[in-house]
Amino acid sequence: QSPFFPNGEKKKTLVILGSGWGSIPLLKNLDTTLYNVVIVSPRNYFLFTPLLPSLPTGTVEFRSIIEPVRSITRRLPGEVIYLEAEATGIDPTKNEITIKQSTTVHSGHSGQDTGSSKSTVPDYTGIEEITTTLNYDYLVVGVGAQPSTFGIPGVAEHSTFMKEISDAATVRTKIHDVIEAANLLPKDDPERKRLLQIVVCGGGPTGVETAGEIQDYIDQDLKKWLPDVQQQLRVSLIEALPNVLNSFNAKLVNYTKRVFNETNINLLTNTTIKKVEDKVVICNQKKPDGTTQTVEIPYGILIWATGNATRSFTKDLMSKIEEQKNARRGLLIDEYLKVDGTDNIYALGDCTFTKYPPTAQVAFQEGQYLAQLFQKKHELESIKYQIANPTDKTNIERLAKKLDRLEANLPKFQYEYKGSLAYIGSEKAVADLAMGTWSNISTGGGLTFLLWRSAYIYMCLSVKNQVLVVLDWMKVYLFGRDCSKE
Ligand code: FAD
Ligand code: NAD
Repeated sequence: QSPFFPNGEKKKTLVILGSGWGSIPLLKNLDTTLYNVVIVSPRNYFLFTPLLPSLPTGTVEFRSIIEPVRSITRRLPGEVIYLEAEATGIDPTKNEITIKQSTTVHSGHSGQDTGSSKSTVPDYTGIEEITTTLNYDYLVVGVGAQPSTFGIPGVAEHSTFMKEISDAATVRTKIHDVIEAANLLPKDDPERKRLLQIVVCGGGPTGVETAGEIQDYIDQDLKKWLPDVQQQLRVSLIEALPNVLNSFNAKLVNYTKRVFNETNINLLTNTTIKKVEDKVVICNQKKPDGTTQTVEIPYGILIWATGNATRSFTKDLMSKIEEQKNARRGLLIDEYLKVDGTDNIYALGDCTFTKYPPTAQVAFQEGQYLAQLFQKKHELESIKYQIANPTDKTNIERLAKKLDRLEANLPKFQYEYKGSLAYIGSEKAVADLAMGTWSNISTGGGLTFLLWRSAYIYMCLSVKNQVLVVLDWMKVYLFGRDCSKE
């Protein structure tokens, strides 16, 4: 692909970081013939996160919810270079980023918070760690966020996050390990009881959906294979606030509580985990009289789902821009998604701090918007080039007017909230639906579960994923979940 347009104008290099909910919709909607596009991400696939909690129990298989980056790029109109690497540093004054080869996808990437200081290149390949630099004309930062630990001692060492495929696979292995180990012990053995405690920390949608999915496995499948173990296996959901699913309508919060009660999920609200040891979590629990007590809860598996923290690359960028010095929870951006204090760096999704929630819905719409914005920016650049390099036929006055008009009418990002859905287990879901600007509907139950399934199928980014997810659901319906180890 030529680096020049037919009129001699040089194509600008657009570097996109990340292959998630922000960057991939940007790429899919971008006219890639207009830029030299380079996408950098340690994860060589797009992950459909809404169905990640279904993975540990095998309700869906991991290949069904991922879409390789290269299968996306090869269908685009212009050439796109994909580099399997993570951005580790940036010099905004030189328009340069440093990237490091990364073949392992983990929740933290270069972040230290998750305790992953290991090299990202596995030993067996014999590959030396490769670090290089890349220059950009425009940079889009879509690196997402990493799981938060709030610096609580022991979290990174002893718990598993629910962020990446590798996390879900670890939980899956652990579930089978604790079940089989407990099965070797007598029924009243305290160690058996400990092993069969699955603790989920965080009553946001990730924690609630994960707890619900595991309880489904216990009630619908394990019951048939190992009824003695099933009776003792207990899922506890620990939440610091008085309620779970705090972003949902109060009616749905109460409905979720009722469903958890019926399905035997042990819901512990007003309970904050303060310390994690290898077999026990130590919590502060607020009692109804307002006093606080310390409780110790033994666990066999601890799943940590307490929301987002800023990645180290994002922090590095923030530290180099004066206008970002007061930013704490992500990059500050304007209504064109341009990073405050820069001319050519844009950011979207969970690595930003805006008035919008850190959701796939927001990141997706931002990605679509940026694709449109970069189309318009190319039009602007092209007019500027024609003005700077006129031919005999160039009408400079007309072009200058067009430039002013385009610049004045550059569209701003506008978020359209479409509603929230969450699966709560036992084939029930809750939904807060926005019906245009005139009405909201809050609903929960079995029919909402069908709506949840239909919506997620609709949201899958490829037909292949849609077909595979439906087949997985049919397989579970007909034959139950697969209880063999990976
Ligand atoms: P991500 O999708 O996380 O993508 C970030 C990308 O950047 C990844 O490809 C990553 O590998 C890459 N990356 C990381 N570090 C670097 C680096 N240094 N250099 C280059 N690349 C890097 N939201 C909803 O709206 N609805 C839901 O139902 C929903 N369900 C969810 C379920 C789970 C289990 C989780 C964890 C989240 C869920 N979310 C949901 C939230 C949603 O997934 C996020 O808001 C969304 O992924 C944010 O998109 P993003 O592009 O900013 O980040
Ligand atoms: P969250 O931030 O929504 O919830 C985390 C919860 O953990 C909070 O309720 C917090 O009070 C609790 N918590 C924090 N520290 C704790 C501690 N030490 N002990 C006990 N509880 C503690 O996080 P999430 O669920 O991972 O969601 C992250 C984002 O992704 C949100 O914007 C969410 O809306 C979105 N998401 C949406 C869906 C969906 O729509 N179905 C699913 C998953 C995630």
